[in-house]
Amino acid sequence: MKKKIRGRKCKHCQGLYKPDPRNLKRQKFCDKPECKIASKKHSQKKWLIQPKNIDHFYDHFSFI
Ligand SMILES: [Zn+2]
Repeated sequence: MKKKIRGRKCKHCQGLYKPDPRNLKRQKFCDKPECKIASKKHSQKKWLIQPKNIDHFYDHFSFI
């Protein structure tokens, strides 16, 4: 189950990162803490705090 994932440019720090395969379409920021904060701010309007999203967030953290 190997998929080629190209590096992407983080919208915040402009650095290359490897997106989470489960989050390809949504993810536009890398895993740096500052970028996660930026990502959170960026998506705050759409991504209101919902239990499923909190689960996802923790899931993402354990993935690192
Ligand atoms: Zn970044």
